[in-house]
Amino acid sequence: MEKIRNNLQTVRERIAAACAAAHRPVEEVTLLAVSKTFGPELIREAHAAGLVAFGENYIQEAVEKMALLAGLPLQWHCIGPIQSNKTRLVAAHFDWAQTVDRLKVAQRLSEQRPEDRPPLSVCIQVNIDGGPSKSGVPPEEARALAQEVARLPRLKLRGLMAIPEPAADFASQKAVHLRTRALFDELRAAGLELDTLSMGMTGDLEAAIHAGSTMVRVGTAIFGKRD
Ligand SMILES: *Cc1c(COP(=O)(O)O)cnc(C)c1O
Repeated sequence: MEKIRNNLQTVRERIAAACAAAHRPVEEVTLLAVSKTFGPELIREAHAAGLVAFGENYIQEAVEKMALLAGLPLQWHCIGPIQSNKTRLVAAHFDWAQTVDRLKVAQRLSEQRPEDRPPLSVCIQVNIDGGPSKSGVPPEEARALAQEVARLPRLKLRGLMAIPEPAADFASQKAVHLRTRALFDELRAAGLELDTLSMGMTGDLEAAIHAGSTMVRVGTAIFGKRD
């Protein structure tokens, strides 16, 4: 219990310091707790420590945890790859899907979103640094995909998400995050009402906040090292 509380305080201090240095109000940055591989008891502790938004990569694992934590008012974000045969589970159980990178997946999520739930919030995942085997749409295809996704009735397009390769120093981390930011600004200038730029993790959240991130996804710094 104490450990998560202390870790969380350290993370909040990092976010606050980065916002101050970047001359941004701290309210602009949402902290998403990445709970993949950690059990429901730790999520319960994290909630007791003040966290409400949780990110999970493995859909089946996440759905099992959600069932065990059904009494808590948590917000669940899918941040792992979404295969077509998993869209029904994502549409039924999650509040957000941050890793949409194909129209087909977006269409299925929209069709399968249950009537009694609000539209599913989604981000387009962008492969901003061009890793050949990585998920995410190439930046040059992101505009067209975003325009199509924005028209799907049961989705609400919120913004962009990126997972760049780890970079050693602040300047190179910031440089790659600024490319995602530029794409985000471009889409907004083209008329899309986006409010979410999901980038930055334990190792690079400061650089991401300097580049304009509105949502940092933090696992290790809150829950400790994963096995
Ligand atoms: C695991 C993961 C994170 C959290 O990474 P940490 O380095 O542990 O903070 C964030 N985003 C995605 C997409 C992840 O898979």
